[in-house]
Amino acid sequence: MTQDYRITLLPGDGIGPEIMAVTVDILNAIAPRYNLHFTFQEALIGGAAIDAVGNPLPTETLETCRKSDAVLLAAIGGYKWDSLPRELRPETGLLGLRAGLELFANLRPAQILPQLIDASSLKREVVEGVDIMVVRELTGGIYFGQPKGIFTTEAGEKRGVNTMAYRESEIDRIGRVAFETAQKRDRRLCSVDKANVLEVSQLWRDRMIALSAEYPDVELTHLYVDNAAMQLVRSPKQFDTIVTGNLFGDILSDIAAMLTGSIGMLPSASLGASGPGVFEPVHGSAPDIAGQDKANPLAQVLSAAMLLRYGLNQPDPASQIEAAVLQVLEAGYRTTDIQSPGTTVLGCQAMGQALLNALDAAA
Ligand code: NAD
Repeated sequence: MTQDYRITLLPGDGIGPEIMAVTVDILNAIAPRYNLHFTFQEALIGGAAIDAVGNPLPTETLETCRKSDAVLLAAIGGYKWDSLPRELRPETGLLGLRAGLELFANLRPAQILPQLIDASSLKREVVEGVDIMVVRELTGGIYFGQPKGIFTTEAGEKRGVNTMAYRESEIDRIGRVAFETAQKRDRRLCSVDKANVLEVSQLWRDRMIALSAEYPDVELTHLYVDNAAMQLVRSPKQFDTIVTGNLFGDILSDIAAMLTGSIGMLPSASLGASGPGVFEPVHGSAPDIAGQDKANPLAQVLSAAMLLRYGLNQPDPASQIEAAVLQVLEAGYRTTDIQSPGTTVLGCQAMGQALLNALDAAA
């Protein structure tokens, strides 16, 4: 029986529409092989939405997303909208989407692809085989805790305040996502905190330990955040899945990403408790190369693979897309951003065609 899924497409700005077009072709090519059918609905976000209707996140867009099984987002933003007031900026649309869908879990994989190993700034022997997933809490912690602000003391001195706070329920829901993510990987979860200094981290650690009783198949370890940062560059292969709070995750996910050395290759997922997740590349709208058929579509294509695996629980077509990406790289095809001597440089569309050929060859 064919399984039907509704997917909202948000191509956004800059290179967004180019990399989205390639990705939709891949999804359409893979669907019948796994008895899947995708109904795509395109909606406006970011600068494109500002130009069309004067709002970076039109109500209809959020409604369309809510009614779908998953959301595939490309990128938003560009020079044209940089000087608009904050509420009319493309980024406001993105933040509104995350808040509107209550996406509290951000999944950022950092995998070293053997063909791109020399793009990393670390030594080959250190990064070879690295395959890490950082699960970051996205809607709590110090970025949102109260009180926050710049206050004036009785002595007339200014004092800046932010508050790092987590409730048990907030820790438990991100913990569950992390344990379940680890179950789909190598079943090793490292929880990162600063429990030697921060009470909020002590609670974080206590809850992770309590939750681990529900996931006996996952090995749970703990690291303090300063040590975790060191270990990520010293010996990154020790990690499988990492779970951490908003602030620590912001920093550690960027360190992990840089191990791979290529921004055009990195996908991400943001998930809520129920309802659709949003799947998008880590990179922005690359306005400097927009409309020139130079964009690397692979992070977007790998985001679609994450959509299948984590959004629709369809790991087999996800793996096949990932295998096709490896295959085109193995064949020496590169976009400009990841080219190296001896490789064949393709444009965005030709890279899409190479992926389709790889999928066909595997069928
Ligand atoms: P960027 O990621 O768009 O670009 C940084 C550099 O990487 C540029 O040289 C660009 O050409 C290159 N690059 C990025 N993605 C590429 C790809 N797929 N293929 C080939 N080259 C690629 O970051 P930026 O220049 O700082 O920001 C540009 C715009 O994107 C800004 O308006 C920013 O606000 C927005 N932005 C959006 C998101 C998002 O949609 N989630 C994230 C970051 C930045």
